Amino acid sequence: MRIFISFLIFFLLFASPDTTFGKEVSEEEAYQKRMDLYKRVELTTQIPWYYIAAVDHYERSIRYARKDIPKPSGVTGIYIKPVQWAGWLNPNQTDPSPLSVELFNGFGVDGNGDGKANLNDDEDIIYTFANHILKYGVDEDHFRIALWDYYKRDKAVGLIMEKAKLYRHFGKLDLNDKSFPIPLRFNYSYRDTWGDRRGWGGRRIHEGTDIFAGYGVPVRSTCYGIVEMKGWNKFGGWRVGIRDINNTYHYFAHLNGYAKDLHVGQIVEPGTLIGSVGSTGYGPPGTSGKFPPHLHYGMYKDNGYGEWSFDPYPLLRQWERSDRRKK
Ligand SMILES: [Zn+2]
Repeated sequence: MRIFISFLIFFLLFASPDTTFGKEVSEEEAYQKRMDLYKRVELTTQIPWYYIAAVDHYERSIRYARKDIPKPSGVTGIYIKPVQWAGWLNPNQTDPSPLSVELFNGFGVDGNGDGKANLNDDEDIIYTFANHILKYGVDEDHFRIALWDYYKRDKAVGLIMEKAKLYRHFGKLDLNDKSFPIPLRFNYSYRDTWGDRRGWGGRRIHEGTDIFAGYGVPVRSTCYGIVEMKGWNKFGGWRVGIRDINNTYHYFAHLNGYAKDLHVGQIVEPGTLIGSVGSTGYGPPGTSGKFPPHLHYGMYKDNGYGEWSFDPYPLLRQWERSDRRKK
């Protein structure tokens, strides 16, 4: 009942008549609409906006990567199956009545106060998820447990917590900016070597682009993200792996050394110094000089089930151009 009243108050004070996107909404407007929605949820539920944002973004990315669930069409990316929404035993799977949904132990709630628990309404969907979290608690530990109970998958919980950390740190939703890994004022060269049989630091085929530059040339983060891996590998030498907000993994190999204090779990942004160009690898820790110095840069995509590499070359060209314009 208390929750219902807070929804009612929320409705009277904050609800806007139009909360869905038109087709011509710009990316900037889309981010603004999402942020407005998250902040409203925070206000009425005390769930920090960055937790809601992280779940929403995770769900959206999974929906784009999968074929068995519909693509997101509204402000929110969260998808709840009709049977979950209405209740397993509910004979009417499109039942919008909050009372009978509750009776059949359905998930759906009326978030916008219009008297209906509508599976296609952004506010109803997001409040339904918020309602799930509220059964546990709004602090980090309880939020984690709520996520685990919902997804039953450690990886999902981990990815969502990482996203929440990034949103909280940067205070904004648009974390898509990228930069070229080498500052443009240095000499470097690269070409498309995707799939080449030879190459240093790749796997069976060459999974990435080699950027040739002198020893000690700075290597920077290409994205907003979190350092997920730092350490030696027999082939890659001294390496760094960074996970960005879209679950893409950015891999940097053969480094000469690391930026001071760089550590796993560190939050980085495009341009953050992570190390320098070297020729480490192909031997025990510290082995260097078996090939010309270069940065091996690779990208890996995650769809919620597995990870695969894709050619970073076209993106590197794009980031290089945009860095040039920024100067
Ligand atoms: Zn390489």
